Amino acid sequence: MFSNKEKFKEVFLNRLEMLCGKSFAESTSRDHYQTLGSMIREYVSNDWITTNERYMATKGKQVYYLSIEYLLGKLLRQNLLNLGIEEIIQDGLEDLGIDLSELEELEPDAGLGNGGLGRLAACFLDSLASLNLPGHGHGIRYKHGLFEQKIVDGYQVELPEQWLRSGNVWEVRKADLAVSIPFWGKVEAREENGRLVFHHLHAETVTAVPYDMPVVGFHSDTVNTLRLWSAEPAQFPIFKDILNYKRRTEAISEFLYPDDTHDEGKILRLKQQYFLVSASVQSILRSYRKQHGSLLHLHEHICIHINDTHPVLVIPELMRILIDDEGLDWDQAWHITKNTIAYTNHTTLSEALEKWPVYIFQPLLPRIYMIVEEINERFCHDLWEETPGDWDRIASLAIIADHFVKMAHLAIVGSFSVNGVARLHTEILKEREMKPFFLLYPEKFNNKTNGIAHRRWLLKANPKLSELITDKIGPSWTSRPHELIDLLKYENDNSVLQQLKNIKQENKQKLADFIYQQMGVPVDTSAIFDIQVKRLHAYKRQLLNVLHIMYLYNQIKDDPNFQMVPRVFIFGAKASPGYYYAKKIIKLINAVADKVNHDPRVGDRLKVIFLENYRVSLAEKIFPAADISEQISTSSKEASGTGNMKFMINGALTLGTLDGANVEIHELVGDDNIFIFGLTAEEVLHYYRKGGYDSIEYYHHDQRIRQVVDQLVNGFFDGVHNEFEPIFDSLLEENDQYFVLKDFASYVDSHRKVGEAFTDVQRWQKMSLNNIAHAGYFSSDRTIKEYARDIWGIQPLW
Ligand SMILES: *Cc1c(COP(=O)(O)O)cnc(C)c1O
Repeated sequence: MFSNKEKFKEVFLNRLEMLCGKSFAESTSRDHYQTLGSMIREYVSNDWITTNERYMATKGKQVYYLSIEYLLGKLLRQNLLNLGIEEIIQDGLEDLGIDLSELEELEPDAGLGNGGLGRLAACFLDSLASLNLPGHGHGIRYKHGLFEQKIVDGYQVELPEQWLRSGNVWEVRKADLAVSIPFWGKVEAREENGRLVFHHLHAETVTAVPYDMPVVGFHSDTVNTLRLWSAEPAQFPIFKDILNYKRRTEAISEFLYPDDTHDEGKILRLKQQYFLVSASVQSILRSYRKQHGSLLHLHEHICIHINDTHPVLVIPELMRILIDDEGLDWDQAWHITKNTIAYTNHTTLSEALEKWPVYIFQPLLPRIYMIVEEINERFCHDLWEETPGDWDRIASLAIIADHFVKMAHLAIVGSFSVNGVARLHTEILKEREMKPFFLLYPEKFNNKTNGIAHRRWLLKANPKLSELITDKIGPSWTSRPHELIDLLKYENDNSVLQQLKNIKQENKQKLADFIYQQMGVPVDTSAIFDIQVKRLHAYKRQLLNVLHIMYLYNQIKDDPNFQMVPRVFIFGAKASPGYYYAKKIIKLINAVADKVNHDPRVGDRLKVIFLENYRVSLAEKIFPAADISEQISTSSKEASGTGNMKFMINGALTLGTLDGANVEIHELVGDDNIFIFGLTAEEVLHYYRKGGYDSIEYYHHDQRIRQVVDQLVNGFFDGVHNEFEPIFDSLLEENDQYFVLKDFASYVDSHRKVGEAFTDVQRWQKMSLNNIAHAGYFSSDRTIKEYARDIWGIQPLW
């Protein structure tokens, strides 16, 4: 149906009438979108079935990726690109007077994630399918993804997100594959045929229904599966209060938790976690049994990878099935489980490390808790054998301690691989945060530096740049991203550098048009587009960025003729609804924007833009238009970052600290092609050991700092009373936990260097080209190949 555009148009018109019950003349854009979507889904179903049949037949090792979040974004254009039918469809639709980009706008973002962690899962799925690797995702089909953000009067307002309002053309409901999940109740041990058998009685059961989405590989006939679970009431509930039961059940897959850096400790969250884990394991084992029969060699044929600790209950769940259902003894079950599970750690922030109070855990998951207890007892026993009497060591490593279950400890003990997400992050895990575990299991620890789906973040998001690259080095970089390095041949080619500049200019113009249309603020596209987009968090230091903008503004006010390279500062960031401090920073950015953008003395020198509702589809508009990528987290705090990689591959230059993957970016491009400032991780950790630094001193001794910090509270912002006192206090009263004032001077200095470099157009474009050329390393294709080789032991099946 997509072999040529005439055929496509014929099928499209037919399908439109059948699906929508209207003539073409009466049809709307939404009808066109639905029709096209259903055609593509049908088109991939052949390859989808074939892929599954081949996996069945070849019996090769498979990996299942479990993640509580998938930040997919829109799928239409990416699917067309991967299938290689974009042009036929675009042309065919054009003949019918339909604009493909308009249809694309109608597709809602699948925003089932908060930020980096969920987006990583989405990028991994793309790379797995594109590399023909047998890897499938499991997640939760939240009815409402991450909230929609509106900015009202400078404040964040959250609206419920509604991506399923008009249905989801990509999914297939598989009601016949539903499984049931037990909560609450009690466990009875009975002696049967000479062994103890455990029965979970009086449980409240919930039905998990899978919705499958095809994951289409790039120019490959592999179509893997993302299976998202939806919670529904069991068919014959035995409960009196059916309405309440229905509400409780559906709540499990109703909302995504909107916080990625704080462990909320709410019972619904633990329900979500076990719901995902139990449904996934049941489904994995069902297809495994069909293929292999007994589970005795499970670990040789499958690997279950957990994205952070949220799905860590997969460990006791697998133990439960092997022992209670399969009748294996503990040691056999433990051997299989431990060798099946691999774990990725995403953070060293202590407030983000999950721990569950026993009083919540035990009643909700009684059998699972028993198993965790036994894992803990056996683990502590082994520790005792190793170092008898060392209670401190045992207490610090224990899985259950002080009436809490520590999820990261369970993950490390119950898996064969523990990986960090950038080299620095893994070093910090090994040397500090998880050092005792590293000493215990050095062979488990390894690094897998994150990556991004370069086909979404460059090929799809930046078609002009992609065309230039293909024109210069051929098209194979789309499958072999390291070939981008061939661009270095052109680093002194003025014509290529000029084309690079023109493309950036066009992309900036597009973003400027979007900004004008959204907010009515005109921005000068010859200015530096200096962009910080990411979740709002104290450690990411959007505050440092704003304080610097206030400092620039003060200079302009002091000297109306102050010369500076014009700058447009662009922000995008959602704050978790309960994160008071982060919301204050959003208000501050908007207050500064309001002042700066309306001051006639400023002119085109300075503009500040806060784009609301940062999400994948907005990100795709932003990265191609960036000159400067702000990656300014307090060193040691950002595990990797992936936004930094998306900017880089689109030719933006990084202004950042030596944190997360910035360290590796710096190493690849060298000192000349990046702007590094601030404390190193080692210095930060040194100060923490000393109990911090004296922020007051910096306030007193640096007049620039004193002025901007005072402006937070001295009436400088009209109409807000005491609004920014909490920020002022965080810097002075609370001694600036994130070293904002400590790094301020160094940051100002780096910005000055950025300005200088930008005025040398030739030099700037050469730096930009260098960044693009070295960005191939950060393709998630490279990352996934490393996982496949070092952790999973899986091979392309064809
Ligand atoms: C890549 C991405 C992130 C992660 O950005 P960081 O700068 O690495 O924190 C968050 N949200 C969206 C929408 C993204 O595309």
